[in-house]
Amino acid sequence: MERVFNFAPGPATIAQSVLEKAQKELVCYGDKGMSVMEMSHRSGMYLDIFNETVALLKELMQIPDQYKILFLQGGATLQFSAVPLNLMTGSKKADYVDSGNFAHLAAEEAKKYGTVNVVASSREDNYTYVPDLANAQWSKDADYAYITTNNTIYGTRFNSLPDTGAVPLVADMSSNILSEPYDVSKFGMIFAGAQKNIGPAGVCVVIVREDLLGRENPLCPKLMSWALEAKNDSMLNTPNTYGIYMAKLGFEWLKELGGVNAIYEINKRKAALLYDYLDESKLFKAPAQKAYRSLMNVTFVTGDADKDAAFVKYAAANGLVNLKGHRNVGGMRASIYNAMPEAGVQKLVAVMKAFEKENA
Ligand SMILES: *Cc1c(COP(=O)(O)O)cnc(C)c1O
Repeated sequence: MERVFNFAPGPATIAQSVLEKAQKELVCYGDKGMSVMEMSHRSGMYLDIFNETVALLKELMQIPDQYKILFLQGGATLQFSAVPLNLMTGSKKADYVDSGNFAHLAAEEAKKYGTVNVVASSREDNYTYVPDLANAQWSKDADYAYITTNNTIYGTRFNSLPDTGAVPLVADMSSNILSEPYDVSKFGMIFAGAQKNIGPAGVCVVIVREDLLGRENPLCPKLMSWALEAKNDSMLNTPNTYGIYMAKLGFEWLKELGGVNAIYEINKRKAALLYDYLDESKLFKAPAQKAYRSLMNVTFVTGDADKDAAFVKYAAANGLVNLKGHRNVGGMRASIYNAMPEAGVQKLVAVMKAFEKENA
């Protein structure tokens, strides 16, 4: 069967060449006589794979030496708890920007461990924009400040980073890591679930500045302690060995393509194809405010639930799947992560135009 264009928000599409490489190496990895899945995580052959994965991510994101790179489990959601457990131990206060559902969930979780100050929120407006931070009341003594760089459900993204001074900036980058250049030195800690822009589900990337290690709450579970995981090279227990290997293949693919700067240009082109059409369409509208439009998740609606459903069906019949929007927004969402080819977006725009014509 032919592969479809999969616009799912996550787990999401993976580059075909990555899947083919994995297929080729599935039964026997190189001259090792076994699958990566069968390797001990303590073996030299696996540690080579692991260390290369770390080195590739470091190179792609130009991560400075004073940051630790961890590959953990529990998804991005476990980090909603790990962030306060590792950092909310000084003033026991943290500033959160409420820019979407995941940001909201992270703030709710942090409330178990201390005082959460929501410095700005767009919740009242169904998160159609990233709240203006010009007048945000940051706490000078906060243990950290928290943002979500891309809001997966609503299709918005921060178009600039807040200046939080000496307060470490923590970012959930699950849905736009590696899609555009970020200066890692501006952050205290970054995390991202792998299943959007890296590879299959089951791995969560954590990038943390060394001086933030060792501040954890005494009740922080061992497996959630960044300091312990850093000390043990992410292998306090068995890591997701195969998922990390898949991440390596994804990083190699991105490096070959030219790295983050190159994919950023492609991502801008892909997003512009959709937004340019949405701006001229008489049928489809983009609910996210222009200044905050995501490059990764493009939300659009007709304003009529039946028409939305008809479009999703029509698109699927044309080999474009998983376009139904999140229930909080309705309508459609095209997730066009790094691995979505330009041809997929071109086809989507062509199918939207055809549908608009038929439904004029
Ligand atoms: C998908 C997503 C999450 C949740 O990820 P899990 O790995 O399922 O826990 C959190 N934050 C953002 C921004 C996401 O896109």
